[in-house]
Amino acid sequence: MQDIALEVIKILENHGYIAYIVGGYVRDYLLNIETMDVDICTNAKPKDIMDIFETVPVSSIQYGSVSVIYKKYKFDITTFRKEIKYEDNRKPVKIKYIDNIKKDLLRRDFTINTLCMDKNGDILDFLNVRDDIDKRIIRTVGNPRYRIKEDVLRILRAIRFATRLDLVIDDKTMHYLKKYGYLLKKLSYVRKKEELNKIFSSSNREKGKKLILELKLDKFLDIPNLSKTVMVNDIIGIWSQLDVDSLYPFTKIEKQQMERIRFLLNEDIYDPYVIYCNGLYLCTVVAMIKGLNKTKINEIYNNLVINNKKDIVVKPNDIMRVLNKDAGSYLKNIMNDIEKMIVYGKIRNDHDDIMKFVINNYK
Ligand code: ATP
Ligand code: MG
Repeated sequence: MQDIALEVIKILENHGYIAYIVGGYVRDYLLNIETMDVDICTNAKPKDIMDIFETVPVSSIQYGSVSVIYKKYKFDITTFRKEIKYEDNRKPVKIKYIDNIKKDLLRRDFTINTLCMDKNGDILDFLNVRDDIDKRIIRTVGNPRYRIKEDVLRILRAIRFATRLDLVIDDKTMHYLKKYGYLLKKLSYVRKKEELNKIFSSSNREKGKKLILELKLDKFLDIPNLSKTVMVNDIIGIWSQLDVDSLYPFTKIEKQQMERIRFLLNEDIYDPYVIYCNGLYLCTVVAMIKGLNKTKINEIYNNLVINNKKDIVVKPNDIMRVLNKDAGSYLKNIMNDIEKMIVYGKIRNDHDDIMKFVINNYK
């Protein structure tokens, strides 16, 4: 992957441009973390880049970024730029292409995200911030007092990097993350959810929770339940406890799952019939939230004699025949009873046994 990215850089250089790998990839490389997401920066303009490479259509040219496909890999190539003015504490209203990498690096969020790699794979530290990455510190490029306020997404990005990479946020940056936390109110729920998902899906998610609470951001993220949320290894499990289904964007299926999880929190999750009706996934999530034994749930699930109604060897027709009755809604009730009896192991999933049960109870 890196070799191919470096080829892209060489191609740009052969066309007379300057180009580097920048940001996340270099940061993760120095922290010994493998990443597939490679960002490249260059002084070539989007149009120049599109003349050289095959590009993904409808890229955000207005923001000076082009997605290039090269040898089946996708690279985001961004033209060196200066961001002139920010609007709504989020987006730059105007950008200006520039020829100078250093100025481009100055508009970036954190020092750990400003290191570059050249075509030979050498690390270039134009802003002289290498120390921060070696000491594992998150610090804004320039004064956090301005850098956080101009783009509030950086608050969540800082927490995300601190969580996922297990870094420490520097004191002054921390101070302004807290101070401008209220501006998160302005950020869309889509964006907030994207970042929170990345925090919640990290194996270090407890740290993310701690930071959000310490910075008192739960209020501005509208997740007041966070303090009592069990940080399970499943984002739907976490969101179900946060209980913000109508505020944050979720699919219909996710909403159903979250509702079900909340319902199951008050049920006996070791009950085979509960496991049978709700399936392994939801029950495992509930077990994690309640601190119950996942293996036991697994065992009960694997020992289920049937997995759904279709597995029952007797069909409604057989029941009609033995009861000598016409079809009717009573059949559904009897099938439900049979299903339950089989799941609880009170009768076997065997034609004669089931028939005996039907004759004894419904004739
Ligand atoms: P990852 O890809 O792991 O999420 P990343 O640092 O690569 O992390 P991207 O969103 O891919 O993040 O952005 C690429 C680079 O662009 C960053 O490393 C950073 O230099 C810059 N950047 C991204 N978002 C912002 C922002 N909101 N403010 C300033 N600079 C940013
Ligand atoms: Mg990236």
